[in-house]
Amino acid sequence: MGLIDGTESHREFTLSSEVWDVWLCDTPDGDIIRDSDEAVVLLNREVTPYYRWLSSDRYQPGFRYVGRIDGPHLVGCAEAVRAERKAVSSDNRFVVIDDTDGRAGWASSGKEGSVQIVGLHLPIIIHEIGHALGFPHSYGGLINWELDRSFGGRISRMAGDVYEYDNPMDQMSGNREYNAATIAVNRYAAGWIDPVNVAIHPQGKAHTYVLRPPGFGGTQMLVLRDPRFGVMITLGARVAKGYDSDIPKEGVEAYKVDQFTRRTQQTPPPELIGITGENLDDETKAGLTQHVHSVGDVFEVGTATVEVLERTGDRFRVRVVDSAESVFAGRFSDEDGSAHESNIEAVAARGVTVGCSPTYPDRFCPDRVVTRAQMMAFLARALGVEGAASLTSRFGDVSGGAWYSPYLERLADLGVAEPYEDGTFRPSEPLTRRDMAVFLARAFSHISAAAEPAGAFEDVPAAAPGAAEVEAVLAAGVTRGCSAEPMRYCPDRSVTRAQMASFLARALQGAP
Ligand SMILES: [Zn+2]
Repeated sequence: MGLIDGTESHREFTLSSEVWDVWLCDTPDGDIIRDSDEAVVLLNREVTPYYRWLSSDRYQPGFRYVGRIDGPHLVGCAEAVRAERKAVSSDNRFVVIDDTDGRAGWASSGKEGSVQIVGLHLPIIIHEIGHALGFPHSYGGLINWELDRSFGGRISRMAGDVYEYDNPMDQMSGNREYNAATIAVNRYAAGWIDPVNVAIHPQGKAHTYVLRPPGFGGTQMLVLRDPRFGVMITLGARVAKGYDSDIPKEGVEAYKVDQFTRRTQQTPPPELIGITGENLDDETKAGLTQHVHSVGDVFEVGTATVEVLERTGDRFRVRVVDSAESVFAGRFSDEDGSAHESNIEAVAARGVTVGCSPTYPDRFCPDRVVTRAQMMAFLARALGVEGAASLTSRFGDVSGGAWYSPYLERLADLGVAEPYEDGTFRPSEPLTRRDMAVFLARAFSHISAAAEPAGAFEDVPAAAPGAAEVEAVLAAGVTRGCSAEPMRYCPDRSVTRAQMASFLARALQGAP
């Protein structure tokens, strides 16, 4: 989708059932004697299901015990493991765990990726494996020197830099005590969110979206473009379920993702508060979740104003109004200049269509052919009738659970849709211009079928099926046919979405 630079390398490991080699490191200072199986059993029992959940089963890491190695410290062990790996001829990436109770780790990504852990602490192991998959930290506030000292001078930071362990919503940031999901942009980069579950807000427009949290399908990430190259704002929903059970706040979280600096910043960033390092107390966590918005919150990101309208179950409905200048007229960007544009905009304004793509709300797909099933939905919305509540279908080839069945059943009740002689509806067939005339004549009282068709169109003789309805839509001014000299209707030609909009818009104009 052109959102992330380098998705190939991101996804080299994230869409696999990767096996990690596990090494135990014996250091002079360490006093925890681990059974050769202990770490591996724990990793397979705890880390594997975490990543399977987070990735919808697309990444299935497994762990196998390979050996024990002596070293002066963890880094020395890791060096020894690199040398030793040649001897065991393993191509697997590897995890090294030392024999202390320390809580830290390091990771490198890519083919040579390794994870080195001080102690055996699952949130940290999960975090480091995330790095090995290419996930960066996310962060919020500007650090201060107090913070810098909390690292004992080991990591040098400048005032005005950022503190990357202060987002308790992200396993890749401030979550050192419990497991949490990672934020949507990481899951998308990994290939764990499909394009259909992403929405990209068009610049300068207003739209409403429904966001769902990790593990629940639906729209997982809403992207707001930023004028700076390589920068975007991402929104995602979070609820306290699954591996997110312990997150300190539920709601819609917002991040600024800058791919040049590989920085993912909470937006708005938290006000400076007394960050204590890795053990965040509840008050601190609350201060660090200012980027997580509840129902009723209105916040600004870039040129957009976002309002969290409501929560229904796990779903959050948000409205985005972007004040930037739009690059296209009206609601849709792909019908500009089309002869059907005003009709498309008119039926969209009436709620007949919301476009053709959950990902790109500004797309209408004007040239795509309409199926008979789709026409039932367009027609029901144009007439302003609700779908039937029935979960059964009177048509032999339609499942009562089909998405369009409620519309079809209601229109059948109204006498607009009828079965073919064999009892079928043939929902997947393209809608023909003859079908269109028949449906419109039955649906709109001001378009009533001519009692005595006169053969007005050369290619629709008076005795042809649908002739009365075709002449009715001509008489009502809904169509002039497909050619004037001679007058033809092209009854068997399929109807595109743009043409459908014009048929419906003209039918609605004449409606009482
Ligand atoms: Zn890290």
